[in-house]
Amino acid sequence: MKIKYCLACKKELKGRCDKKFCDTQCRSTYHNTNRPFHELSIQKINSDLRRNRSLLAHFCPSGKSTVEKEVLARLGYKFELFTHIFPFSTGTYFFCYEYGYLPVLENGTEKMLIVHKQDYMDNLSFHPWNFKIIKHRSK
Ligand SMILES: [Zn+2]
Repeated sequence: MKIKYCLACKKELKGRCDKKFCDTQCRSTYHNTNRPFHELSIQKINSDLRRNRSLLAHFCPSGKSTVEKEVLARLGYKFELFTHIFPFSTGTYFFCYEYGYLPVLENGTEKMLIVHKQDYMDNLSFHPWNFKIIKHRSK
């Protein structure tokens, strides 16, 4: 039988062969020392998402506005991070919580059409395996 060692204190394990730790204390020691890296990367992404959201909110005080992409890029907007997308007939909106933007080109300048989430956007049924642009009927 193969000798196994506690993942926390490295002492030889006795008893059940599926054991990984001596006891609950070693288990919690192990999980606590291994938490930081994993938690830090989640925290970093969460704080970047919040920052994105704050920037969108700042530049969209009244529900809808258009801002040059460079303005937000300079302020540290992370375009690769978003909480969800909203596929629309005019393109795909990238959301950070309740604010989102549609990438638009105006006379060769990359701009962001920033919007505050609308109620109908909650009813999105999104199928990544059968991606379809959702047509929204205008009133
Ligand atoms: Zn141990």
